[in-house]
Amino acid sequence: MRVVDMRSDTLTMPTPEMRKAMAGAELGDDVFGEDPTVNRLQEVAAERLGKEAGIFVSSGTMGNLVGILVNARSGEEVIADADSHVFLNEAAGSATLGGIQIMPIKTERGLLTPEQVQEAIRPDDQHQPRTAAATFEDTHNRHGGIAWPLADLRAAATAARERGLAVHLDGARIFNAAVATGVDVKEIAATADTVTFCLSKGLGAPAGSVLTGPKDKIAAARRWRKMLGGGMREVGMLAAAGLVALDTMVDRLAEDHANARTLAEALAEMDGVRVELDRVQTNLVFFEVDSMPPERFLAECRARGLRAEASGRKIRFVTRHGIDAGDVQQALAVVAEVLST
Ligand SMILES: *Cc1c(COP(=O)(O)O)cnc(C)c1O
Repeated sequence: MRVVDMRSDTLTMPTPEMRKAMAGAELGDDVFGEDPTVNRLQEVAAERLGKEAGIFVSSGTMGNLVGILVNARSGEEVIADADSHVFLNEAAGSATLGGIQIMPIKTERGLLTPEQVQEAIRPDDQHQPRTAAATFEDTHNRHGGIAWPLADLRAAATAARERGLAVHLDGARIFNAAVATGVDVKEIAATADTVTFCLSKGLGAPAGSVLTGPKDKIAAARRWRKMLGGGMREVGMLAAAGLVALDTMVDRLAEDHANARTLAEALAEMDGVRVELDRVQTNLVFFEVDSMPPERFLAECRARGLRAEASGRKIRFVTRHGIDAGDVQQALAVVAEVLST
């Protein structure tokens, strides 16, 4: 039985071209700044995002943690959407390791309005922490993979910057956002001081993220990365795959989006399935099933060769490289069968 695994886009395997590039990568010690392949990846990533500099980090979580650490200090506060990855899914890293508190703001669709940003900024009062930064997420994972309209992201970021806040963008899937909106990734990245993105998700590289931003912040990030144990040595092996990912895997994200759309529209037609179609803009499809709890639905799917995950009542299907239109049809057939049991 062929298993269709829609748990995550992190499950993508490196392409043959990546494996070849990894095997042949020119290497050096990156803590000495002497790995030419890492240096090239950092330059290419910074250039693509329109930033001065970049630093290769082990994961999106490290990119966000270091991104927050260079924008705020111990005792300060960072504004984030309450359903953001930095608030919910990063083990309170910025609080634990940076002494930085996150101020979570509940939103309708994952992006704070300029008014919400302004209201969240603390007054100058000895009882309260100083608000140092705001962080946004594009695409927004928990809100369904929404790709932010550039004007809305700009407005929120401008509200923060006008009040002297730094802006960090969790762009784990920023290339999905760029492909879905048809906006140059540089324009999206320009809304923030620091931007991190994942090479390890839809772009298919085995590991790694890049944090980009101004030279001084990336220099500060280098010290934090070292402190966190993220100073790796001949890591050009991984950077080589990242370069191939940026070269060959960005435009094809449109296929994942088309597959997600097909999936979502067909699910929406099924009785007892609820999908908010206007949120399905990229490679994530969240939906609810009325007739059984999510655990049972997932177990029934799994028994039929379809894997997915749930958060709360919502089931999440993720399309990615390695899942084709035929797999989408197979997944839909499994769902129909499970719902008829
Ligand atoms: C996956 C993800 C991250 C973290 O990436 P890891 O590489 O898994 O640590 C950060 N933000 C968002 C929105 C994500 O989806």
